Amino acid sequence: MIELLNHPTLLARAKGTGALVADILQTLKGRSTVGTNLLDIDRWAKAMILEAGALSCYVDYEPSFGRGPFGHYICTAVNDAVLHGRPRDYTLADGDLLTLDLAVSKDGVAADAAISFLVGDAKPPESVAMIDATERALAAGIAAAGPGARIGDISHAIGTVLSEAGYRINTEFGGHGIGSTMHQDPHVPNTGRPGRGYKLRPGLLLALEPWVMADTARLVTDADGWTLRSATGCRTAHSEHTIAITDDGAEILTLPTHGRP
Ligand code: MG
Repeated sequence: MIELLNHPTLLARAKGTGALVADILQTLKGRSTVGTNLLDIDRWAKAMILEAGALSCYVDYEPSFGRGPFGHYICTAVNDAVLHGRPRDYTLADGDLLTLDLAVSKDGVAADAAISFLVGDAKPPESVAMIDATERALAAGIAAAGPGARIGDISHAIGTVLSEAGYRINTEFGGHGIGSTMHQDPHVPNTGRPGRGYKLRPGLLLALEPWVMADTARLVTDADGWTLRSATGCRTAHSEHTIAITDDGAEILTLPTHGRP
């Protein structure tokens, strides 16, 4: 089902949820230093979600591709982990590449965002380049979105940046519609053909999420039944925003409060 939230009240609520997600991610990024445990990040996320009167989209989430309910409030993926990273007893080290992915629902509207960054002072150049590629792909996808554009235009824009940066693209998981629930139609693959697919309309909310692995397109599932890792053990990166299609373009909903115009 494709849902359109084109009532001004709904869009205002979506912006509120988006700002909450972005603010929590920025706070957690600031606290993700050398010596921080992933379980602490999960506990902090839970506290901030509950304090805001929001609901976690993750804690009871139990899709076919996971094993049992997720049971945590945020996805924490380190180095070779990329998607659905289940928080575990792991202490962050200098140079770790950490991805935080968070979706919450507030006032009946969900928002979803992810950031990848390096912990501590070490800045391995290939990791910096990979994070940069997913951020540029996300920006290109957003630039291609607007009323009358098609899903394939977004997919093509994302895929072009990722492949020109030298990465192979996995199409098992990608972006998605979002609204009253976290995962909705349409699916937004991270590569595709321009001019194809669903035509975007004002009120459509999309989560765009380019992600890559350094030297492979193949995933393996961790023993925890949830965390997806690169098949070769290489590093990975992931960038995600929730956007709203408006009458004259696309608006990013998951910007931190201090980054808003
Ligand atoms: Mg998502």
